Amino acid sequence: MMTTGDAALRLGIDLGGSKIELVALDDCGRVLLRRRRPTPGGSYRETVAAIGGLVAAAEQDLGQRGSVGVGIPGAESTVDGTVKNANSTWLIGQALRDDLQALLQREVRLANDANCFALSEATDGAAEGAETVFGVILGTGVGGGIVVRGRVLAGANRVAGEWGHNPLPLPDEESLPPAPCYCGRCGCVETWLSGPALAADHLRHGGEALTAQQIASHASDGDAACEATLRRYERRLAKALAVVVNILDPDAIVLGGGLSNIDRLYQSVPQLWQRHIFSDVVQTRLLRNRHGDSSGVRGAAWLWNVD
Ligand SMILES: [Zn+2]
Repeated sequence: MMTTGDAALRLGIDLGGSKIELVALDDCGRVLLRRRRPTPGGSYRETVAAIGGLVAAAEQDLGQRGSVGVGIPGAESTVDGTVKNANSTWLIGQALRDDLQALLQREVRLANDANCFALSEATDGAAEGAETVFGVILGTGVGGGIVVRGRVLAGANRVAGEWGHNPLPLPDEESLPPAPCYCGRCGCVETWLSGPALAADHLRHGGEALTAQQIASHASDGDAACEATLRRYERRLAKALAVVVNILDPDAIVLGGGLSNIDRLYQSVPQLWQRHIFSDVVQTRLLRNRHGDSSGVRGAAWLWNVD
């Protein structure tokens, strides 16, 4: 760790498509400083400069040098270290880590933003103390990340936890035909479990054009069509998570993203997944995130939790 003070200063950067957020954490995870600015969309050079500017300003204000971790909407290629799979397309093919290290004059750690979410919740969030954690983002898209004993499991291809692009298991009549996914495959988990997918499923079954949040809220008010849509969603989520349990068998699964705010998922899904999991008793905990939208940036800072 390169710090000048007694305690370690950890700077986390969440590089999103519309904003770049910085948070400075002390050893206990307390927020010392938080900044955000719009992402210079379309310009890689300006994006790197913007991150450099945020780090320099934070360190000047805090009078201390820190470690830097960056969460990105993509992954680093194992071939040449450049960014791949990013929906912020101007990052693709760029040597982001090398360029940041040259600019900031220190080692920089980079991770996928869903991995940062999982790391944040495993370190001092809802799954604090759990040995193996699967973090899931259920939002506009669906992502996942795995943390084992405080470390992100990146994987041989840097795709560990990319559960959103597995096919939904055990398709039944209500889940057919599989919809095409932007990734080029069909019937991906994301095409059933994202917010837009929930809304589209409601329409497909003859419901009104509503957002995922409206469907959840109408269901709790007793709307039968919304209730049926939410039940289909719960059954699919339970099946898709059961596959993860059978392979990884995590101690805890933490949900993030907009759909993680649907209260009933934490009771209904563990009841529904039981029959799909190859075990007499299922002790896996399904948890709502603790840090909300801040988990991504906090997890980026915690990339320096271990040496
Ligand atoms: Zn896909």
